[in-house]
Amino acid sequence: EKFANLGISENVLKSLLKKGYEEPTPIQELVIPLMLKTNTDLIAQAQTGTGKTASFGIPLIEKIEEKAQHTQCLILTPTRELALQISQELNSLKGIKKLKILPIYGGQSIDLQISKLKGGVDIIVGTPGRILDHIQRKTINLSNISDMVLDEADEMLNMGFIDDVEEILQHTNDNKRLLMFSATIPQQIISIAKKHMKKYEIIKT
Ligand code: AMP
Repeated sequence: EKFANLGISENVLKSLLKKGYEEPTPIQELVIPLMLKTNTDLIAQAQTGTGKTASFGIPLIEKIEEKAQHTQCLILTPTRELALQISQELNSLKGIKKLKILPIYGGQSIDLQISKLKGGVDIIVGTPGRILDHIQRKTINLSNISDMVLDEADEMLNMGFIDDVEEILQHTNDNKRLLMFSATIPQQIISIAKKHMKKYEIIKT
């Protein structure tokens, strides 16, 4: 299969060429067309290093509107390193599309984050504790997001972020698409899906 057959725009195809991605990985082949064609919630089982970031990142970039006046997408991930990596990957994929992508993690100055958030952000990539802090300060508003990703969901649970993730979910709207990426799918993941997803697909690679 080729990227060009998955429904990806010329703009993003150019970015992929620049990045030297020649062919989609198995998870990308499954997730990209599904996310582009449907709005279904999703649990995707994927190990790290399989290209899962681009599998959700490409369709998110395609679907996001330029110049919307609100945050459109939240990606939660367990660590600062992952938040930075995901932000970099999205920035390198967006091409000429005018999107603001902001990593938000604990340990960085909250005032600096607040001033960046005030400028308007399309995609927030953050760690749960700090995102919740901003929600409580009302410096992040997730009521209008259209997509939310739980990246390394099993790892976030292992690290004890379940209560934070649940509370963050309560500050989002029910119409958003919820996507979970996880190396393993323990019962706790299924429980979150049953509680917060409508009809969902499960993809395993
Ligand atoms: P990830 O699983 O998203 O952390 O990606 C693992 C690594 O694979 C990263 O260094 C990506 O830049 C790279 N990668 C992702 N998709 C592709 C692809 N289709 N072809 C080549 N490398 C890729």
